Amino acid sequence: MSQPTRLVAGNWKMNGAAGALREAHALAESLAKEPARARVALFPPAILIHRMAEQVKGSGVQVGAQDCHPESSGAYTGDLSAEMLHEAGARLVILGHSERRTGYRESDADVAAKVQAALRAGLEPVVCAGESLTQRDAGQALEVVAAQLQGSLPDSLDGLPFAIAYEPVWAIGTGRTPTVEQVEAVHGRIHDLLTARFSNGASVPVLYGGSVKPSNAAELLHARGVDGALVGGASLKAHDFLPIIRAA
Ligand code: PEP
Repeated sequence: MSQPTRLVAGNWKMNGAAGALREAHALAESLAKEPARARVALFPPAILIHRMAEQVKGSGVQVGAQDCHPESSGAYTGDLSAEMLHEAGARLVILGHSERRTGYRESDADVAAKVQAALRAGLEPVVCAGESLTQRDAGQALEVVAAQLQGSLPDSLDGLPFAIAYEPVWAIGTGRTPTVEQVEAVHGRIHDLLTARFSNGASVPVLYGGSVKPSNAAELLHARGVDGALVGGASLKAHDFLPIIRAA
């Protein structure tokens, strides 16, 4: 069974107007000159996907979306389908981010329906899971993350490319990170779950996400079972994101 291909993903969230595309351009230029060892993907606000995909063409940088609707079309004001995102140039999609699980009350079943939609449209899902601080303090991190993933990953993923991001909710945007031992314990549990459930489970990359920055990237990225990173704030500027990519 092949090893997971490492992936470093930048989640811009609701940041970055058109001017921010210069950061994607700078990143693409640098990676075109000196290719990264890992796969690299940027997830801008949906309105920038098309322009960014054009801009980074040929550099190896992929572009993804931050969410999709489960249906392919219909009366869903304000939403975007996986098919629309694919047509715009997205090749991956983040699903089940804690900001959506919390802010939009997305359940594991909702996330699983969106994963199905992504597969239907040919998008590679990056499925997120992570425990709250209360759950961590109660010693429930492993079981919470495993339960979220069991409910969010449909069987139809079997044999197809997808990635997991372990993102402890209390580490996102806070500057706090778990210890390497805590990260390794959760990643080990996720790898076991993937291997038990999917024929290609051993080659599914499991990313760590939560306050990754240039100064802690090497330590987190080289922890056992960590196959890359999902990076929020530090992915907005090429000069912060590049050293993280180079550390992978
Ligand atoms: C994220 O949004 O997925 C994330 C990990 O954010 P940050 O790196 O800013 O903590």
